[in-house]
Amino acid sequence: MDVAANLAAIKDNIGQACAKNGRNPDEITIIGVTKYVTIERTEEAIEAGITNLGENRLEGFLEKYTHLEDKAKWHFIGTLQSRKVKDVIDKVDAIHSLDRLSLAKEINKRATKAVDCFVQVNVSGEESKHGLNPEDVIPFLENTKEFKYIHVVGLMTMAPHAEDKEKLRQIFKNLANLRDTVKDKQFKHAPCHFLSMGMSNDYDIAVEEGATHIRVGSKLVGSQ
Ligand SMILES: *Cc1c(COP(=O)(O)O)cnc(C)c1O
Repeated sequence: MDVAANLAAIKDNIGQACAKNGRNPDEITIIGVTKYVTIERTEEAIEAGITNLGENRLEGFLEKYTHLEDKAKWHFIGTLQSRKVKDVIDKVDAIHSLDRLSLAKEINKRATKAVDCFVQVNVSGEESKHGLNPEDVIPFLENTKEFKYIHVVGLMTMAPHAEDKEKLRQIFKNLANLRDTVKDKQFKHAPCHFLSMGMSNDYDIAVEEGATHIRVGSKLVGSQ
């Protein structure tokens, strides 16, 4: 399928999910996840109207970035090793995987201006998933208050590959509730307006539960 047709179908589903609870589809940023595909396919996504791209590994990110640079906004969505921060920090528009103090320290040290970050939360409690436990998020934000370049714009989670839609919905609800709790704290460095949640198999549920950023790979550009 060409990317334009896939994107039209995704937008259609977003429209329906938004209609269920009176949301405006313009509130939702579609991040095209291009980790599986070539530069040519990525260019096709840009031509189809995708303006935000996501990569989860440094090598893949740098390859795409080198070719496409200012044709898109770049989201780093994968686990980020501290020693690689210096390679991405000036190139990305947002990091979706802030999950530990040592990483926050390194970002703060290497940045020359505020960096938009999503705190990754392991809502499902699966051991294989990265991210802070939900109860550790507020303490983490307390501990990053004095880092002047850390700007927490939202929370991010990866839901399990579950078939059980109600289970997925509950995970997204929990993240949305946690986001509200954080917002109520009115941390200066963490306005935390956004929710980065939902991938190819569950973005419609995520949108129903308040996602502002969905990260869609296989259903948008394919997976090979
Ligand atoms: C790969 C990946 C995605 C996209 O996955 P699809 O199921 O192909 O849409 C989203 N978020 C993260 C963090 C990923 O690594």
